[in-house]
Amino acid sequence: MKCPHCEQKLGFFSKSLSKSGRVKICSNCDKKIKISFNFKLIMLLIIPVFLLHSFLLKPLVIMLGFSGSGIVGIWGGLLVLLSMQLKSAEPE
Ligand SMILES: [Zn+2]
Repeated sequence: MKCPHCEQKLGFFSKSLSKSGRVKICSNCDKKIKISFNFKLIMLLIIPVFLLHSFLLKPLVIMLGFSGSGIVGIWGGLLVLLSMQLKSAEPE
């Protein structure tokens, strides 16, 4: 994820983002940022991910002897992570 102010790359587990609270401070430019979710992207991705999961991964996982339902949670987490983006939280 990139800081909307200075384009500095911020890791999801970096110090600036792991702070609690809705508003985070960029470690590079000290400006306020917040995490927001791109719901449009989730809706866009959810169908191909679901299809990929049902026809490709689930049979594979079951073939390997695991339960097919556990992997759904991983997909859900991945989708949420993918759709996360940083927005400015500075007053306009
Ligand atoms: Zn910054």
